Amino acid sequence: MPCGCDDHCDTQQSLIAVDTALDLLLNKAGVVTETETIELIDAGGRILAEDVCSTIQVPPLDNSAMDGYAVRSANFSAAGETSCIISQRICAGEVGTELAPNSVARIFTGAPIPEGADAVIMQERCKVNDNYMVSSGPITVGANIRKAGEDIAIGDTILKTGDRLKPQDLGLAASVGIHKLSVYRRLRVGIFFTGDELQEPGTPLKAGQIYNSNRYTLRGLLDNLNCEIIDLGIVGDTLEATRNAMSEAAKKTDLVMTSGGVSVGEEDYIRIALEELGQLEMWHINIKPGKPFTFGHIANTPFLGMPGNPVSVFATFCIFAHPYILKKQGANHTQNNSFMVPAAFDWLKEESRCEYLRAKLETNASGQKVVNLYPHQGSGVLTSTSWANGLVVIPPNIVVNKGNPVEFIPFSELECNH
Ligand code: AMP
Ligand code: MG
Repeated sequence: MPCGCDDHCDTQQSLIAVDTALDLLLNKAGVVTETETIELIDAGGRILAEDVCSTIQVPPLDNSAMDGYAVRSANFSAAGETSCIISQRICAGEVGTELAPNSVARIFTGAPIPEGADAVIMQERCKVNDNYMVSSGPITVGANIRKAGEDIAIGDTILKTGDRLKPQDLGLAASVGIHKLSVYRRLRVGIFFTGDELQEPGTPLKAGQIYNSNRYTLRGLLDNLNCEIIDLGIVGDTLEATRNAMSEAAKKTDLVMTSGGVSVGEEDYIRIALEELGQLEMWHINIKPGKPFTFGHIANTPFLGMPGNPVSVFATFCIFAHPYILKKQGANHTQNNSFMVPAAFDWLKEESRCEYLRAKLETNASGQKVVNLYPHQGSGVLTSTSWANGLVVIPPNIVVNKGNPVEFIPFSELECNH
């Protein structure tokens, strides 16, 4: 059996590769099927449960792309200046009348193009004498006109089932007049935090205690995913307390998540309780930090047991829990997007586990985007996660020299924006 410790032990014996672990999790992530119809204004970050089609065209009418004059381009075909009478004035929200021959219409951005006009001349290119507009041609037919339906045609699918709704998606739905959307219901997640040493902020620490920082990290991360949280708080290090909390948390929830107690120490009861109440399906991943990350089921409720170390909680959430929860919520896109960027550091110690280093994407003195590491990469150094704006992935047994491209996962991937 591999050692359960998170930071130091490098034995690879029966460790599960990160990709294998993620595939297993995603394969087992049953999607919540219930849906609800909610107000568009409340739908940010929710997962769409049906395709959204437009029943109107956008824009609804040909309209002016700028402040200027709506003209018949034929009047301005000759080189040199042409003078035309200004026969009407059309503001956004109004509809003009057919353009009289040899006349132009004063028009403002967004106002419908009057019948007979086929171009708009921007006001900067026009002079006005009394009630006449003077400008020079030639003018291209269609210049400065936004065509009806050029963004969205009637019947277009504008959003798809499984889209995680971004602010701009809400705007898009609003632009076709939709005010309610059908989304998957929120995932109910039961959480608790094991450890006799834990205390909540707001109460002074007694000797030997530490604050329950994992609670705040985990809740923030779950909030970002719009989860409904059932928080059982701190649970002591006994088998009975762990077992009771597990059964309680699994009631009426879609997922239970915990921190701590997943190693092989005598005070680590999660694995034993899980095996009593359900089944352990995955334990010991080839990842640093986060090796003791655990997956299983409490009766029929899935369970993700994260290690106690605060950085391990954050990293394993990013790598495993985030895509897993998105999949359960019905999202199409679950993968963390990453990109390659030159390292501004040397990483010369070969490590048999896949490492997720706290890193910051920066611009160096030559204006090049590079990625730097926080100097202390211990799994208890929560400062590193706060300082960083992403994770650098170092595959097993790889060394990195300054300038080598490395994979970078920005923390923006964890927010409600994709
Ligand atoms: P464990 O996995 O329970 O052995 O915990 C590993 C390390 O993480 C220990 O140093 C714990 O004190 C620490 N730890 C466990 N739970 C928390 C928590 N909720 N908040 C902060 N640190 C924790
Ligand atoms: Mg513990």
